[in-house]
Amino acid sequence: MDIPRIFNITESAHRIHNPLTPEKLATLGAVLRLEAGTRVLDLGSGSGEMLCTWACGYGISGIGVDLSQLFSEHARLRADELGVADRVKFIHGDAAGYVADRKVGVAACVGATWIGGGVAGTIELLAKSLSPGGIILIGEPYWLQLPQTEEVARGCLAHSISDFLTLPDLIASFGELGYDVVEMVLADREGWDRYEAAKWLTMRRWLEANPDDDFAGEVRAQLTFEPKRYVTFTREYLGWGVFALMAR
Ligand code: SAH
Repeated sequence: MDIPRIFNITESAHRIHNPLTPEKLATLGAVLRLEAGTRVLDLGSGSGEMLCTWACGYGISGIGVDLSQLFSEHARLRADELGVADRVKFIHGDAAGYVADRKVGVAACVGATWIGGGVAGTIELLAKSLSPGGIILIGEPYWLQLPQTEEVARGCLAHSISDFLTLPDLIASFGELGYDVVEMVLADREGWDRYEAAKWLTMRRWLEANPDDDFAGEVRAQLTFEPKRYVTFTREYLGWGVFALMAR
């Protein structure tokens, strides 16, 4: 059981699989005023950068669940590297329906809300693991400007315009679900560039090392078209942020 192989190729060198820079990830930990010993659950934890750096910088302990075997292995290596392997645990598996054995102070899903079938379902899932008064973190794209056509939405790799909301509508939607938005850290274009452009060099290097692989054609096509697609669409139209929520 794993994610589609193309992501394990294109994002194999990413530590952060979202448009937040390392600085913004640290800012997020700081603005949440995390106390040492706080337990954090992260569904779709990727290569574990959030839990590992927060364990290192803020003394939290954490559990991450991720469907990519490769990213989960990278997460364990990162925990060793930062000396926090005794405090963070990474489980390779499907996070759909995952509920922590012990309640946590922070329950997060950062850039993987399909795990709960969308933002609302993911908030509902995370809430099952949360201590009273705890914080839910949702990382999600939003439209910087609403696409004029469905073609533009597809250029942003969305299925349709309705996949995402504008920032005001996204913020309002959390309220409609009964949550206060108590903090947020938004990505900027530099962060988007780091997330997207890092894939290009990874693809190029991978192609040089694996010219005869079954995926070489697909990776070649992506490397050829992705830079133009990204600057034409995603970079112009999509924002991204992590929103901290507390039940009203
Ligand atoms: N939160 C991480 C990763 C975001 S990318 C970060 O911000 O760096 C989305 C992640 O979701 C990938 O690591 C992918 O492997 C994982 N994923 C996709 N489907 C999943 C599922 N059903 N259960 C658990 N993880 C999943």
